[in-house]
Amino acid sequence: MIKINSMDWKPIKKTFDKWSVRPTLLDYTTTCASFSWESILKEIDGLPDGKGINIAHEAVVRHAMEGRGNHLAIRWLSRDGAIRDYSYHDLHSQSNQFANVLRQLSINRGDRVFVLSGRIPELYISALGTLKNVSVFCPLFSAFGSEPIRQRLSKGDARVLVTTQKLYKQKVADLRKHLPLLKHILLADVEEDIEEGLWSLPKQMAKSSDRFSIPQTDPEDMALLHFTSGTTGMPKGAIHVHNAVLTHYMTGKYVLDFHPDDVFWCTADPGWVTGTSYGIIAPLTHGITSIIDEADFDAERWFRILEEQKVNIWYTAPTALRRLMRMDIEPCRQYNLSNLRIIHSVGEPLNPEVVKWGQETLELPIHDNWWQTETGGIMIANYASMDIRPGSMGRPLPGIEAAIVQRTNKNDIKIIEEPEVEGDLALKPGWPSMFRGYLHDEERHRKCFVGGWYITGDLAKRDADGYFWFVGRADDIIKTSGHMVGPFEVESVLMEHPSVAEAGVIGKPEPLIGELVKAFVCLKPGFEPAEKLRLEIMGFARKKLGSAVAPKQIDFVDNLPKTRSGKIMRRLLKARELGLPEGDISTLETDS
Ligand code: ATP
Ligand code: MG
Repeated sequence: MIKINSMDWKPIKKTFDKWSVRPTLLDYTTTCASFSWESILKEIDGLPDGKGINIAHEAVVRHAMEGRGNHLAIRWLSRDGAIRDYSYHDLHSQSNQFANVLRQLSINRGDRVFVLSGRIPELYISALGTLKNVSVFCPLFSAFGSEPIRQRLSKGDARVLVTTQKLYKQKVADLRKHLPLLKHILLADVEEDIEEGLWSLPKQMAKSSDRFSIPQTDPEDMALLHFTSGTTGMPKGAIHVHNAVLTHYMTGKYVLDFHPDDVFWCTADPGWVTGTSYGIIAPLTHGITSIIDEADFDAERWFRILEEQKVNIWYTAPTALRRLMRMDIEPCRQYNLSNLRIIHSVGEPLNPEVVKWGQETLELPIHDNWWQTETGGIMIANYASMDIRPGSMGRPLPGIEAAIVQRTNKNDIKIIEEPEVEGDLALKPGWPSMFRGYLHDEERHRKCFVGGWYITGDLAKRDADGYFWFVGRADDIIKTSGHMVGPFEVESVLMEHPSVAEAGVIGKPEPLIGELVKAFVCLKPGFEPAEKLRLEIMGFARKKLGSAVAPKQIDFVDNLPKTRSGKIMRRLLKARELGLPEGDISTLETDS
């Protein structure tokens, strides 16, 4: 693959002299050298009397028992401006009640409890209560249509669904005849039970004791079932176990850099794994305060939340940051963001232009990190204390071995030791939050492991200093005139043009050169699609990328098709361009 200009961007020197705390990970090399998962195991609590490890114990029980019960755990901001606060005591007792509700319904270890709702407090309480009962929590995006909901409930063997009256009527009622295992629906906003199996959650909660003792939990007991984003095809149900909490806790400590008085805001919806691992679990394991906003993206609301809630640590996604970039707002002039210490991003490659925008506009660089539903937690990151190389995902976590590999045959790989060579990004199995399987698809799970490594499906390269650079998803790589082109680098260069807000790049079959590089471009406000501008952007890209790699075609579009977790669906751009079937679009954002 040819080397483009990601290294042209100057590293951003990290300083933290204005910080009120010191970053926990100050020396990457020393921390990695002395790291062991056993030492993290000692930092978490474990169930009393050696009864194992349970995520909910680490997230709430521990703090309630250790004198932190009155600390604010979750501040919930409703769509219409109301605020509801939950201390660790509140979460503890209400999740106990939920666990008792499950028990009364004879829902046991390993049974799947799905939640289909917006970001409402009941979602968080159900998650924790489900984990306490050693049942399996499985969140769904509330915006899913009824077919994706049916597929997931059916594939996941749902026994219980927590939802709201409206969502039930609109999307679930008609499905029940197809879901014989789904015995219980708990409606979060109904005061009286409707019929056998269609219960009022508040009523059931009120009837239940707020005392509950977590049963023995094997660290390998299934805890979470998470469906992937469906960016590259049919979503897969990734299985995670209670031991994953070690990764949640550890990444909270070393990557997100949680300190006891921190206020943290993860903007992801729990329908996407980030919203569970980091929107629920990780901050609670550190006993800090999380902000949960019920409303959808709204630039001014978001800046107001950062200001009013005095957010210290903000975890968001490139798609949201790119949207903020498009707005005519000067955040630091219009809002007091002085409490903000660190901004993290995940989910998609973070274009260098966005890191630079953060530095200039928010007066903080943006720290990219990489992981997947399958990895259960962050694996590669830009740490608080380390210089940022814009465009790089950072370096592997302590305790995580990542490598660039090449397949030598169906059953083996070779590790590429030289820097700057592109290949498959692979991880050495064994970290606590590694997925334990795809539900009902053992064959697919098995195929992910080759020669003793987990092959992630992403292509990347490593530089001489050990920073990893994302190249593209294996499925998205473009083969043109004998070159392999990763769409991310082309998209990032397009975004350097002053008129371009966002771009999606695909390969379009072309007999002579294999595939032709085609770009779909969204313009910033104030720019209009025009032939002159198209030619100008093409010329700009050619100068930066060379004519072999620069897009040969550019279409202006208002929006790019994205998953609900905000990832550009290049496979859909391609299918639409070629007039092919769209494939599974259950996770497509509806206005795309
Ligand atoms: P599916 O597997 O169903 O196609 P998906 O891979 O998008 O969907 P997720 O598990 O939510 O589902 O996303 C993980 C993927 O997102 C990674 O494999 C990678 O392609 C991309 N990704 C996540 N973080 C980053 C990042 N920091 N830089 C580049 N890509 C990232
Ligand atoms: Mg994937």
